[in-house]
Amino acid sequence: MNASTIVIVGAGQAGALAAAELRQQGYAGRVVLIGEETHAPYERPPLSKDMLLQPQTARCAIHGEGYYAEQNVELKLGVAATALDTQARIVTLASGESIAFDELLLATGARVRRLPMLDALGENVHTLRTLQDAQRLIPVLQTGKRVLLVGAGVIGLELASSAIDLGAEVTVIEQAPRAMARCAPPLLTEPLCDVHRARGVTLHLGSPLASAMREANEIVLTLENGTRITGDAVIYGIGVEPETTLARAAGLHVNNGIVIDAQCRTSHPHIYAAGDAASQWDAASGRHQRRETWENANRQAQTAARAMLGLASEGLEADWFWTDQCGLNIQFAGDMAAPEWLARGTLAAPPCVLFGLDGEGALVGAITVNQGRDMRSARALIGKRARIAREMLADPAQNLRNLAREFA
Ligand code: FAD
Ligand code: NAP
Repeated sequence: MNASTIVIVGAGQAGALAAAELRQQGYAGRVVLIGEETHAPYERPPLSKDMLLQPQTARCAIHGEGYYAEQNVELKLGVAATALDTQARIVTLASGESIAFDELLLATGARVRRLPMLDALGENVHTLRTLQDAQRLIPVLQTGKRVLLVGAGVIGLELASSAIDLGAEVTVIEQAPRAMARCAPPLLTEPLCDVHRARGVTLHLGSPLASAMREANEIVLTLENGTRITGDAVIYGIGVEPETTLARAAGLHVNNGIVIDAQCRTSHPHIYAAGDAASQWDAASGRHQRRETWENANRQAQTAARAMLGLASEGLEADWFWTDQCGLNIQFAGDMAAPEWLARGTLAAPPCVLFGLDGEGALVGAITVNQGRDMRSARALIGKRARIAREMLADPAQNLRNLAREFA
């Protein structure tokens, strides 16, 4: 392609991966990577895990020191892009600098959904999205500290696990009747909650918050059922909202995310979007979908970078993400809303694998618990929408790799 300047707004997972992909594909023009945060691009998954558990040794940088200079990627950190002129193809930064681009990637991620009732308490109320947030949590998650976690999504449960490992007293409050309901079936989440309880976590499910107040040095949360819970600090994780301010103001098509096609192109032919901020057409579900996962950010970043260079990308495999909690590595692929689930083994004695079937008995989802080596085969079988007898799926003696070969 002839482009001489490619600008990437958002120096997070998708932004950093897109810059790397451009260079890997031989693009020799100017690449400018703009990030509002002051840190060089880093991975967020360790923030709720190793960055809290081993802050001295854990690392989260996406690329090593010197990478951006070596690759001739102009990294502009600590400065937000504040305006986008789509006609003139110019991005303006908070510093006043304007940069003309030939192609632009919006990789602006997501921001934490706010809960004003808790924010109003001021001190000792935290959320977790950035490295700075994680650093602020280190003194909060200590032996004997009473930590109240609001929201039993992935953040809430990963933090519950880390906080217990660090010796804190942990209470989790969730308005929905079950934990991680947005991303996993009850066959996983119910026994997973039992594992958390066995480690000492107190869980209040189906328990919306009624009020929050400060009494002396304590925080007091009252649930709608009248239960009063006191603690030293609150951390809440009640989901995220896509960061679309720039795209919306520039007149791009935004609908719960920056709307993109299969090549990650927005409603403007020279502007692309990737990662948590983007909402992509999904043929399987027949609707646009935002995916808030590490792998999706990488995949869309690479697709967008290649499309800018006129290169095609391979077809999509089943969605994949993971969580680490309570010493369990749990990996998910495909449709977590599948109507039927069955288990091979039990979460009480891992390893185990769960299989999700659609209404016609085809394999559409899988979850491995301390059994990541089965994930590749499970994804291949999901890709084929394989129909396998339920007894075979449930039987640990049936090697998934052999089954995947049969369906290849
Ligand atoms: P981000 O990584 O959020 O990067 C966006 C960047 O853009 C940010 O740095 C932001 O400051 C910047 N930005 C926004 N607007 C502007 C602007 N106008 N100008 C300049 N810069 C701007 N996923 C998994 O699959 N597995 C996990 O175990 C997992 N664990 C996670 C743990 C935590 C604590 C969190 C918060 C997320 C986790 N995720 C996990 C999700 C995964 O990290 C995200 O899906 C991924 O980071 C999305 O990448 P992104 O590039 O779209 O957004
Ligand atoms: P999430 O997974 O969407 O879960 C948020 C939870 O909070 C939901 O169960 C939600 O219930 C609940 N909730 C909403 N409003 C509430 C309220 N007022 N009171 C109590 N509970 C409330 O989001 P998250 O856990 O905050 O995670 C944030 C982001 O980080 C996501 O993008 C996530 O993908 C990412 N992340 C990913 C991983 C991973 O993949 N391993 C790990 C950590 C973080 P309702 O559904 O009823 O609203």
